[in-house]
Amino acid sequence: MKRRDFLKGVAGGAVLTAVSSPIDASAEKKPRLDNALGILYDATLCIGCQVCMVACKKANDMPYVPGDTLETWEKPSELSSNTLNIIKKYEGGESQEKDVEDGFSFVKRHCMHCVDPACVSVCPVSALSKDPDTGVVTYNEKACIGCRYCQVACPFNIPKFQWESAFPKIVKCQLCSHLFKKNEISACCSQCPTGASLFGPVNDLMAEAKRRLQLQAGGYADFPLSDIRTGKTVNARVAAYNKEIYGESEVGGTQVIMLSGVSFTKLGLPELPDESYTGVAETIQHTLYKGLILPAVAFAGLAYVIKKNTKE
Ligand code: SF4
Ligand code: SF4
Ligand code: SF4
Repeated sequence: MKRRDFLKGVAGGAVLTAVSSPIDASAEKKPRLDNALGILYDATLCIGCQVCMVACKKANDMPYVPGDTLETWEKPSELSSNTLNIIKKYEGGESQEKDVEDGFSFVKRHCMHCVDPACVSVCPVSALSKDPDTGVVTYNEKACIGCRYCQVACPFNIPKFQWESAFPKIVKCQLCSHLFKKNEISACCSQCPTGASLFGPVNDLMAEAKRRLQLQAGGYADFPLSDIRTGKTVNARVAAYNKEIYGESEVGGTQVIMLSGVSFTKLGLPELPDESYTGVAETIQHTLYKGLILPAVAFAGLAYVIKKNTKE
């Protein structure tokens, strides 16, 4: 059995056992941090230009990945170890209209920076962590042992594994927090020409999302551009919003929130409970321990470390 298949089997078994376990609704709900930073993605403002994808690759030193379809919109079609952010296209019918169920829409996928992240709670070596001030979820690649627990635990299927690497690690969007030190913001937001990807304090983004839901569809309004704190705006037509904010409550809330004219499930976003997934994550971890799966994975991790040290 190939190492890749072995690890896939391990993770799959863990999921099968864990999904049958109930979510621990009694767990205390964690509040959003006062200084939490995040992104408001508004699909109704998104023109599918993919500038954010290019900016993301540039800011994170990721290579070009050829697409697997001939459609321009789908290059590449999924997140991977070399693609941290993707714009996908939804097509629901014959209509050429944007932001309606039988027409089309775009949707952006990357890490949601959960308020109570399951990936952090399940990581056995604390390679993933949540910044106590900004709430951004980052990972320490030196600490990661490649066990992929975070992949199993993430309700949004975000962390990706470097299958192609001799020493694979997990990768995911870190909100470009390495740019914050240079007083810069997330590259996808700084480069987005329409304000569809908007950076800022989550409290401000949430208020802005709620304001948009009150706007009159069909009229025109000013929408903040790049960073909500700068006051820069663009004037655009107001779409008929689906009256929900994705990420307001899903799995205890997320710091990346979304608006759309099309229902979120049709855009491929999972329907999730309001309770955090950390209870599920812990169940997965206990399952792995109980089924002696952890030692197997730990062995793989250990073998990896030994191999790496031998090489060095
Ligand atoms: S979306 Fe997934 S990877 Fe991102 S913080 Fe939440 S659990 Fe972690
Ligand atoms: S915040 Fe940075 S890493 Fe995350 S999707 Fe945007 S550009 Fe990519
Ligand atoms: S840069 Fe902005 S408008 Fe263009 S695809 Fe990305 S989110 Fe949409």
